[in-house]
Parts: sequence; structure tokens; C-alpha cells
Amino acid sequence: MDPTRKVVEVVRRLERFVPALEPPVHRMFEVQGRDHYRILVCGILSARSRDEKTVPVCRRLFERYPTPEKLARAPLSEVEEALKGIGLHRQKAKYLKEAARMLVEDYGGRLPDRLEELVKFPGVGRKVANVILTHAHGKDAVAVDTHVHRISNLLGLVQTRRPEETERELLKITPDGYKRKVNYLLVGLGQTICDPKRPKCERCPLKDLCDFYLSSVGG
Ligand code: SF4
Repeated sequence: MDPTRKVVEVVRRLERFVPALEPPVHRMFEVQGRDHYRILVCGILSARSRDEKTVPVCRRLFERYPTPEKLARAPLSEVEEALKGIGLHRQKAKYLKEAARMLVEDYGGRLPDRLEELVKFPGVGRKVANVILTHAHGKDAVAVDTHVHRISNLLGLVQTRRPEETERELLKITPDGYKRKVNYLLVGLGQTICDPKRPKCERCPLKDLCDFYLSSVGG
């Protein structure tokens, strides 16, 4: 199948399937909403941390520091304490304070809408910057994490080794209007059905589109 038709079909099917599973990524997006401060904080905290662990920490943090001004002024040791339970919490506490300061002082509380600017925030790499572009600004970007990279390859949408290549290839084949949906849907599928170690292919709505599944059953 033509890759563009295939990615459109993948998105259409997963839009009907994934939200009902209520994957952890769903709760992450509920916690952050469209609020720029929250999207920035959740993005920085999500690096190398599973959403199941990150979501309660985000909630706790927003109760203590409801605004970026409060977070920027908080003592470092107090922020570290609030982040306990999450990987790299000391480093992330530093990132958060500095990112909150930048958001307030350099950007007047609104995140910039260019990737090159976003990656200047501490703890923000390409993936988080692309999440910000889609969630804070409604832009057509593809945020590629390990789930998106892995499943795009299993499906045969791309043949890539690194997430940056996957992002580039997905941008080429995915029509506008669909790009911003890819992250949520593939992450949600990866957190529930397409487990990296034991994919539950029998329950997956993409079986007939998936190169990995078709080759494993001799299709
Ligand atoms: S068919 Fe299996 S391997 Fe393919 S996307 Fe679905 S769960 Fe993953």
C-alpha cells in the first residue's frame, strides 16, 4: 500500500480505538491541557520517565507551584523533593526552575512556536519541542519517541534506525491534519497493545496493515 494511504488509514483506525483504552498518555494530556506552563513542565519531566510515573508527579508539582513564577522562585531543594519518584529528579529540578524563569522573563509566559527556539529550554529536545508545537500551538509536527519510532518500523511505514530519521520520513508521508495525531495514537497503542516485549497482535486493529505481523504469520 502507498505509505501515505497507509498512515492515513492507521490514524483513522486508531482514532476510533485508542481513546477507549485510556492509555497513560491520555492522562498526561489531560493534566497539561493547552496551558503553556504545564505543557513545558510535563514535557521536561517525561524525558526517560514512563507516563504512569510522571503524571502523579506533575499533579503534585502543579498543586505546589500553580504558576511559572512560583516555580522559578522556589528553593531548589523543595523542587527536588516534589520530584521524588521520577528518574533524574535532581537534574530535572534544575531544568524546571530555569525553564520556568525563561518562560516568564524571556517569553512573557507564552512558549515560542519555532522548534529552534524551543530546544533552547533546558531539558527540551526535539521530541518535547514537537509535542509543544502540536499541543500549545496546534501545529502539524510529529513528535517521535521510542513507541512512535518502534511501531512505525513494525508497521513498515518507515525503515529507519534512529528517531530523527523516523520523524523526517513520517513528515514526508503524512498529510497535514494527520501529523499532529500520530504521537498520541502510536504512544497510546504502544502503552496498551503493542507492548515492546509482548505485542498483543490478536487485539490490534492494525494487523492487516502491519508488516511485522504479516511476516510473522507468513502473509
Ligand atoms: S499487529 Fe502487533 S506488532 Fe503490529 S502494530 Fe499491532 S500489536 Fe504491534
